[in-house]
Order: sequence, then structure tokens, then C-alpha cells
Amino acid sequence: MSHAKQSSLTPVMRQYRRIKQKHPDKILFFRMGDFYEMFYEDAVEASRVLGIALTSRQAGVPMAGVPHHSATTYIRRLLEAGYTVAICEQLEGQASRTLMQRDVVRVITPGTVVEEEFLPGKAANHIAAAYVAGDICGVAWADVSTGEFMTTQDAKEALIDHILRVAPVELLLPEDYEDEALSEVLGGGCAVRRLPPWRFDAQTARNLLIQHFGVHDLSGFGLEGLDAAVAAAGALLQFLSETHRSVNHIKGIKVFRRDRCLVIDATTARALELVRTATGQSGEGTLLHVLDKTRTPMGSRLLRQWLLAPLVERAAIEARLDAVEELCEKQKLRTRLRELLQRIGDLERLITRVVVGRANARDLVHIASGLEVAALIKAALSDVESPLLKGAASSIEPAAEICEKIRSALVDSPPQTIKEGGLFRPHYNAELDRLREFAESSDRWLAEYERRLRRQTAIPNLKCGYNRLFGYYVEVPRSAAKRMPQEFRPVQTLKNAQRYTTAELKKFERESLGAKERACELEYELFCRLREEVAEYAPYVVRTAESVAELDCVAALAEVALQNNYTRPQIVDEPVLFARASRHPVLEQTCQFVPNDIDLDANERQILLVTGPNMAGKSTYIRQVALLVIMAQMGSFVPAEEARVGIVDRVFTRVGASDELFRGRSTFLVEMAETANILNNATPKSLVILDEIGRGTSTFDGMAIAWAVTEFLHERVRARTLFATHYHELTAIAHNLPRVRNLCVQVMEHQGKVVFLHKVVEGAAERSYGISVAEIAGVPREVTERAREVLAQLEAQTEYSDGAPRIPPPRKRPRQITLFDTESRLVEALREIDINNITPVEALLKLRQLRQLLGLD
Ligand code: ADP
Ligand code: MG
Repeated sequence: MSHAKQSSLTPVMRQYRRIKQKHPDKILFFRMGDFYEMFYEDAVEASRVLGIALTSRQAGVPMAGVPHHSATTYIRRLLEAGYTVAICEQLEGQASRTLMQRDVVRVITPGTVVEEEFLPGKAANHIAAAYVAGDICGVAWADVSTGEFMTTQDAKEALIDHILRVAPVELLLPEDYEDEALSEVLGGGCAVRRLPPWRFDAQTARNLLIQHFGVHDLSGFGLEGLDAAVAAAGALLQFLSETHRSVNHIKGIKVFRRDRCLVIDATTARALELVRTATGQSGEGTLLHVLDKTRTPMGSRLLRQWLLAPLVERAAIEARLDAVEELCEKQKLRTRLRELLQRIGDLERLITRVVVGRANARDLVHIASGLEVAALIKAALSDVESPLLKGAASSIEPAAEICEKIRSALVDSPPQTIKEGGLFRPHYNAELDRLREFAESSDRWLAEYERRLRRQTAIPNLKCGYNRLFGYYVEVPRSAAKRMPQEFRPVQTLKNAQRYTTAELKKFERESLGAKERACELEYELFCRLREEVAEYAPYVVRTAESVAELDCVAALAEVALQNNYTRPQIVDEPVLFARASRHPVLEQTCQFVPNDIDLDANERQILLVTGPNMAGKSTYIRQVALLVIMAQMGSFVPAEEARVGIVDRVFTRVGASDELFRGRSTFLVEMAETANILNNATPKSLVILDEIGRGTSTFDGMAIAWAVTEFLHERVRARTLFATHYHELTAIAHNLPRVRNLCVQVMEHQGKVVFLHKVVEGAAERSYGISVAEIAGVPREVTERAREVLAQLEAQTEYSDGAPRIPPPRKRPRQITLFDTESRLVEALREIDINNITPVEALLKLRQLRQLLGLD
């Protein structure tokens, strides 16, 4: 803005420009009286996002405003839209006569809020920072509302997996880092903030962390040598300390080690619909929705972590299973525990607000009641046997003294605000009692004064009253005004009355108003002191909250196990996977589910090739196997009559391009890149789930690739594999590879209709199956016969020397075809077929098309 223009602004607008200059990238809420006003671009943006009126101040400056008492709602909406909001307040006590002092007191970003009213429910509110150097990436994340702080280092390709798992609402990236795939997965739900690259400098970051945690080096955190992880963590911590008055509640950092848990990459999590459905929705339709019977917000957050990063150590898995089993058996204990959990509240977030100095009196009362409930939980668990339950119970720290302190200080339901008094109980503080008493006795004094004046003036309807403008006054009817003594000074004339003040009344006013004000101030001071005392107990409260979360998770898993009739899986180290009558945990909730067996063994039955027509249940079957493993390793019981799970180190699930409806860029290239990733990264302990891989290209290419992938998995990778395919031709591979088995999903023909039995049995699907169904459906004999011919040739063909099978030309037949099919779709498809001039490849493709039309493929 030019100097000339600047000088034409009013003082307050000059003040605005000055403050706004320091916060160019934020929406500035500029407090003016009872409103927060926004100007210029901020006003335009805000009016668009919030749907509020855009007006203009003098000289055409765009302006929009929201009332300060309902600002929260608007701020939350701006945060959700990814904006950062700077709150500029009028500063009391420093008002000069011409201009109110103002300054930014708070910057609110989506990932840095701790206040209940801005937080998105009970889910974690993560802010993350990502950094890439060469082929390594570092990802750090924090939940400021709970004090959680973690970082990890991995191959560059894993960046997206980590981001999707953490699901941040705000992501910090170096300015110069471009990643198209990343932007794509982030979508609109995450605010991306670009920081100058030097903010990710590893050395600076290291020093910052060392200083913050007050340690000599970072080895205690297991961070030595993890430069990228350190860089991301440093950038994040720096950002948090800029946006927060204090980040002292972040007391440590944990390194997330992928190899310490069952690795589930982003594609797999999506394909298996663990926490989001295929269409990207959370909630119903996901495995998390089925399992999350937790009763506390911290339990719910932890369960999500358990699901996305299950365990790989047998002892740790068994420990959870033992706890779940014990709670399954002890029905009374479980019921009691879950009742108590229901009442405990979000201890994690409450204590964080205390530590960062944003808790109000209600928060403290809730902490006290939460800790009291925690003590009851500890007591309820006195007789438990499993080590996990024992451990959790023993690390619950009831902190009775702090409860007592809060209870004896604060009233049972204190007001929301902490500056207007009414927080403390009587007898908590002698000075407060005195001030309060004085304030109360003033009402009595005023009544007495009124009586005295009536006697003195002999005006019976003389009244004493109070208004904001004139303070305390004496009021008499206009008619009586003449009779008022000299010392009564008139202050206000009304239609029928005259109001006065007196020296005595003024003195009273000073004292009584002063007392009320002082009482409020004192209460505020006492409260801050109390809050600091509570803050010192934070480590105990945090530990208690962690134990409660763990108990909540195992209790929830026990509850789900009983409700859904799950059984405890047997965990073994051998690379096997066996289950009798297993079900799909999500689908069984909504339909009459047909249970199926599974029998995998890397040494014998390593690869199961599942064939069968479309809609038979192939995809469901192979996914349910993956879900069973994930559930077992997170410590849950599983939907089966019996299960034996050899520990898996990674689950890979890939879905062929055309099967993946929701992905916009469903290219064959992506499919192949993902397949390559599996072939390069799977180990003999992995579980590989392939669904219609190779579909994204022409039939022969696809088949050839599927064939080669199977061979590679068999010969080199040796991972337990389930491969669903509609290429019946692929079943022949079982003849060559000893550890490949064919399975098929049964279908039945009944009165010309296909009935899906959803039963998985040993053996390859019948090859000519599609053709016989075509016959039933009324496809002309000529077509089906020719199809059989082509198929027979394809079958006889063992190698394709010139890329296409040698199939003899069709015999001459009359071209006239009589159609007696009733389905018009089919008729149309058939019309296109020129029976005599069709090449084998075309014939095959047409046949597939027909099968598809018939719903067989
Ligand atoms: P495919 O992959 O063979 O085309 P899907 O696995 O997608 O078939 O299954 C199609 C539908 O069949 C599912 O949406 C589900 O409703 C039903 N289904 C699959 N398996 C079962 C089962 N075991 N029991 C009951 N219904 C099933
Ligand atoms: Mg399928």
C-alpha cells in the first residue's frame, strides 16, 4: 500500500494494516466492540466460506463480521476449510483516548487446537510434518490435545502410507517439495502448510529437540542416526512452539518402528476397508466400526492405532488375547468395567488443557471425577489374573490428593468462564469469603439506607437503585423533587422521576463494586494457582489415561467377541494360516453369511488360486482371510470356529485396476507398479492378497502377467498368497507348481438361473461353465459351440509362440442365426458377432463380454 493511501486511512485501519502485515497468511479476526471484523481479502474469503454478508466500510474497504459470542462456530468452520485464524483482541487497561490498543493474542490452526469446542469429536487431531531427503522420508506427528508426539523414518515410497495412517488435519511440508501422489491422497480434509526448507535442517532440529527435552543427546529416544525423522520432528516442534504459549506438555518423543508391527500399507488399508470404506467414508462398512465398542475417547483413539499397526511378537499378541479372554469369561467384571469406563471422560485431553493453561474450572472438576472413576476401576480389577490387566490396573494412579484438592476447592458445577467468579466453595479462602460477604451485605446496607432516607425526607416512595450509566442512585417522583435536601446531587431526569446521588452512596458504590471485582480477580488468581498445582500431577494423569485406554480396548474386544461369536485364535510362528468356518467380520453384520475354511501353508499350500464367476464371493473370501490375520495380530478374537495364525510381517492387498471403482486414475501402470512393490518387498512371512491382478490390460497380457506373478511368488518370494481371478486358464498353473492349489467358489444352475452358494471348495472352476450358462440363458447353439471350439484350442495351446493361440478358422456355416433369447442386451451383443470372420482373440473377448453380460464373469 502506497504511503499516500496509507495516510488517508483512519487510525484504526492503520492499526489493522500494521497487525495484518505480521499475519499475511491467516484470516485476521479483528475485535471491534462485540464483533470480530475481517477486512479486504480476509473478508472476501470468509464471506465465501462462512456464507456471511460482505459489506463495505468507508472508502469501499470490503468487510465482514461475526459476533464475538458466537465466533467459535465460525472459527471451527474456517479451520475445517483449512484456514488459520489469528485472533486480535482489544487489550484492556491500555486504551489511549483516541485508539484502543489491539494485538494478536492467539493463532489457531487446524492441527494445533486443544479446546474442546474446536476439536473434531473424540478422534485424534494430528498435525504432521514430512520431509524427504534422497530416497528416505521422515514423518513426525503430534496430537497437541493429548501431548502425543511421534516420528518415523522410512523409504520414500512409504511416505503416503504413513500420512494415510496418521490422517493429519494439518501437514507441514518444505516449500520445495512436490509430490503429486501425496496431494492426491490428502484431498480437501487436510490443510497443507509450506515452510521454508531450512526449517527442516537436521542439525537445527536436533539441537531444538535436545534443548526442549533437556537431554544430552537423542539416543535415549532411539533417534540417533535417524536424520530425516529428526528433521521432521524438529520442524514440527518449532511450529508448535510458535503457535502455542507453551509446549511443555510434550514431554517426550517416540519412534514409530514399522518393523515392530504388522505393516499395512495405504493401498491395503483401503482395499480391506479397515478404517474407511472403498468410497472413503469412515464409520459403517469398516472393520473399525465393527470393532470399536470402546467407551472412552482415548480408548477409541488407541483401538484405531491397534488396528492400523497390529503386533508381530507372539508374546505381546498373547498378552492381549489373554486379557480379552479373561474379560470374556468374567461377565460381571466386564460389565462393571465398561460401566465405569463410560463415566470417565477424556482424561487425556483434559490434562493437556490443564498443562497448556487453557483448562477452565469445569475441566478440573471433570479431571477429579475422572480420577475418582479410575480409582474405582483399579479397585474393580483387584482380582484379575492376566498380566496385561494386572499391569494396567497397577499403573492407574488415583492421585487422591489432587482429587481432594479440586473437590474441596471448586463448586460441583462451576461456570464456563473463569473470570467472573462463582468457582470456589465457601471457606476455601478467608479473603475471598470476606470480599463475598461484603458484596452480599451491601444489598442489606442499601435496603437499610433506603429506609433511613424515607424517614429523613418523609417521601414514602423514595427508592434506591442501580444502573450501569450512573451507578447507584436515589429516585423520587418529580413532584417530590422540590423537597430534596441540598446534599442530593441530581444525576438523571426521567419523565416522572428525578434521580440523585450522594457522597455516602458514592462511597458505598466504590466499596461494593470494588469488592465484587476484587472477589472475581481473587478467584481467577486462586484458580490459576490451583490449575498449576494440578498440572504438576500431569504425568500421573497421563499414565492413568493410557492404562484406561488399554483397558477400554481389551474390554471392547471382549464385548465384540461375545456379541459376534468370535473365537480366540491360536498364534504360531510357522508360516501357516488355518481357519474353520471363518466369516467376513463386516459383511456378516448385514447378510446371511456362508462361512468358509482356509488352509494355507507356505511349505505346502502356499498359493491358493480362487476361481469362479463374478459375484461368486472370491473377493470377499480372500479379504476375509486378510482381516482375520489383522484381527488376530491386534489381539482380537476372530470370526471363525477355530483359527491358527502363523505370524505375518506384512499384509499386501492389491486389487486389479478395473475392480477398483473409486480410484480415478485406474491405470494399468499403477496396478503394475503396485504389483512390483509386492514382488520386491514381500517376505516368506508376508500375506499377499491379489484380486484380479492383470485385469487392466488385454486378456492375453493380463493372463500372462498373472501367470508370471504367480510363478515369481512361488519360486522366489514364497509368501502365503491368495489370488482371486476369473481367468480359468490360470488354474493350469497348478500342474507345474507344486505349492499352488486351486479353489473355486461354488455356483449352481437352477431352472436356468445361476445360484451363488458362496461356498469355497477345492478344485478349479469348471472351464466351460460360462458357456453352459450361456446355453441355459438362450444363447444360440451356434455361438456356444463355436465358443467351445475356440476354448478347446486355447486349452490345447501350451505356449503362445507368436503372441496368439493358433486357432483354426471356423467352418463355413449359414450366417443366418435365429435368436430365441429374451434379453435384449444379449441380442444386441450377439448381433455384433460375425461368426465366420471372427479371430480367436476376438472370439475369446466376445465370449468374455457375453459372460459379463450374463453376470457370470
Ligand atoms: P467376486 O469377487 O467373486 O465377484 P464378491 O466377493 O465381490 O464376488 O461377492 C459378491 C457378493 O456376494 C458380496 O457383495 C456379498 O454380498 C456376497 N457374498 C460373497 N461371499 C459371501 C458369503 N460367503 N456369504 C454370503 N454372501 C456372500
Ligand atoms: Mg471380485
